[in-house]
Amino acid sequence: MPHSAHDIVVVGSCNTDFISYAPHLPKEGETLTGTKFETGCGGKGANQCVAAGKLGAKTAMITKVGDDIFGSQFLESFKASKVKCDHVGVVNGVSTGVAAISVADDGANCIIIVPGANNLLTVEDVHGAGETIKSSKVLVCQNEISLDVTHAALKFAHNHNVKCIFNPAPAQADLQSDFFTIPDIFCVNETEAEIMTGVTVNSLESAYAASKILIEGKKCQSVIITLGSNGCIYQAKKDDKPVHVPTAKVDAVDTTGAGDSFIGSLAFYICKFPHLSMTEMLRRANKIAAMSVTKRGTQISFPTAAELPVDLL
Ligand code: ATP
Repeated sequence: MPHSAHDIVVVGSCNTDFISYAPHLPKEGETLTGTKFETGCGGKGANQCVAAGKLGAKTAMITKVGDDIFGSQFLESFKASKVKCDHVGVVNGVSTGVAAISVADDGANCIIIVPGANNLLTVEDVHGAGETIKSSKVLVCQNEISLDVTHAALKFAHNHNVKCIFNPAPAQADLQSDFFTIPDIFCVNETEAEIMTGVTVNSLESAYAASKILIEGKKCQSVIITLGSNGCIYQAKKDDKPVHVPTAKVDAVDTTGAGDSFIGSLAFYICKFPHLSMTEMLRRANKIAAMSVTKRGTQISFPTAAELPVDLL
């Protein structure tokens, strides 16, 4: 790869997570006493950027936060993970994106996301950050900001030969064709794969069937479907057989953000270890995501380079 000022640029969301734990989820009109409360920096864009940054990639974030305490916390968290913030806009009088999450004892959850400043990121902001995108090796996008903005970012990066990873999460059923055809890597979890293909993904065979639809029907260039504790499958291109890449067996304590850890790690390997095969990169990204589920929390559970076993570096 040619010399680049950045390894990874993420155009995406910042949401502060407010997580309340309670014996069960409240019914309409019910007030419950919870057992625990946690808060932290989240949002798929910020998570994936920080995951890669903690591993040692040179990362840049293109996003917007509000001029509130939460926006300041994001700036601090990016700084701590050495994420470049030249294109993190702070908008006066607007709240930073928030996710109010309730988690019941049985793991059931419900989430209200208020996008706040995320909704104010514009196509012009993307073009204004054109030099940063052009000087990166990999662009990573998700679905927590306006589709127009994500589309502009993918198109701009693609036109400048920057490798694009698209993680269309949360899933939307009616994405236009460019979102499938432009990205070099289209990465979804089981639920997202089902929403986009109509195939219930609950086995390797059904994951392969969903991948076939994404590659042959939707014309994705390559597809990864993550399968939780079963690792992931990868199909490099049409007519290639999908491969299953299993992950490590671990005692999972909190799987929140596992997908973000996986994608940030994959982007890291693509930039920093380009000589590795894709299967090997996925094996390593699986292992890092498996490490993240053994700790509570989201960004805080993502390992740093210093915490990785030698076979992952
Ligand atoms: P989340 O929404 O919780 O961030 P996700 O649904 O997007 O995650 P998953 O498919 O659940 O994504 O997990 C992503 C990756 O994380 C998997 O491919 C795997 O590598 C790792 N992983 C997730 N859960 C486990 C687990 N219980 N044990 C080991 N690895 C796991």
